[in-house]
Amino acid sequence: MNLPTLEDLGELSGRRVLLRADFNVPIRDGVVVDDFRIRATLPTIDWLIERGASVTACSHLGRPKGRVDDRYSIEPVRKVLGEIAPDVELLENLRFDPGEESNDAAFVEKLIAGQDAYVNDAFGASHRSHASVVGPPRFLPSAAGRLLQREIEVLSPLRTDPARPFVVVLGGAKVSDKLGVIGTLLRVADSLVIGGGMCFTFLKAQGHAIGDSLVEDDMVETCRELLEREGDKLYLPIDLTALGPGGEIGDPAAGGEVRQIGTDVPDGWKGLDIGPGSAAEFGDLIMDARTVFWNGPMGVFEDSRFEAGTHAVAQAMSETRAFTVVGGGDSAAALDQFGLAGEIDHVSTGGGASLELLELGDLPGLEALRGAPNA
Ligand code: AMP
Repeated sequence: MNLPTLEDLGELSGRRVLLRADFNVPIRDGVVVDDFRIRATLPTIDWLIERGASVTACSHLGRPKGRVDDRYSIEPVRKVLGEIAPDVELLENLRFDPGEESNDAAFVEKLIAGQDAYVNDAFGASHRSHASVVGPPRFLPSAAGRLLQREIEVLSPLRTDPARPFVVVLGGAKVSDKLGVIGTLLRVADSLVIGGGMCFTFLKAQGHAIGDSLVEDDMVETCRELLEREGDKLYLPIDLTALGPGGEIGDPAAGGEVRQIGTDVPDGWKGLDIGPGSAAEFGDLIMDARTVFWNGPMGVFEDSRFEAGTHAVAQAMSETRAFTVVGGGDSAAALDQFGLAGEIDHVSTGGGASLELLELGDLPGLEALRGAPNA
């Protein structure tokens, strides 16, 4: 990818380095509940500090929409960072300033004032052309941090040179979010498995009844074309777990029958997970693969009645001899829920960024680094 790395920054003793990190972590009642992304930046921080640099870190947190909003204060992150990297300064939430998302020149200037170099270790934000991602490399010697480097090293070869069979497992709510990456990955993958809420738009395209399941009607035609063109590579569920009339997601007490069904969902019912037959079939594909990329849950795994499909995929990911990559977000949360994150070769810190990198092969934040004065 030809990105400048930390070694390309030259002498760092006594110099000031601006570090764009992705500390966009889940926070509950003012406390960080998962510090995975903060810890993932430590190799870069330690490298810089060991060479005598003073480090100022910055990150966005949530979506405060360009206004100061205490609910999105960076304070809980500062607390964690203070414990694991006490010498690092931390700026307030970048998105408190509207200039971050609009990539405003004056905001870039403010960020780089007094800084001698810039490091991007925010893989999870590198698909955004925001000020802190694309601005500083126009002016400062710049580098990819260790985390960003590792993400690219793992993800890039998936789209060009995966060990085969290469199996892609996609789930989650919406087809429209993933259509681009489905198109690219169908070209390189040997099998592409589709579960989660998005499978119902495909099932509808095949003529199945979908009851009250999630569907994107404006995508049905597109799904039909994909099935016609690439049907031999696409795997859809062969059975489902559904919730009957009166039932509520996340509230078993509300009643509503839960039943294993085929691929036709009766009126008034919702398909909320793949069924056991599909889980076994998808698991076998994963077990026989040499590379697997997984993004998106197979069902509403937050509700234990509908977690079995996602659990089966996570279990197979943990057992296969294949090189396993999980693309951030909800699938990483599911792995944590099942205690299996440690069994995966690479859990990406960026859900949206990993999909965009696989789809397009590049990201705005990476392009910016390649244009830096020292690159
Ligand atoms: P995404 O953000 O697109 O990755 O979607 C993740 C969300 O999709 C999770 O919160 C799941 O609960 C939800 N989901 C997965 N399967 C289904 C389904 N069959 N019906 C409704 N929501 C689902």
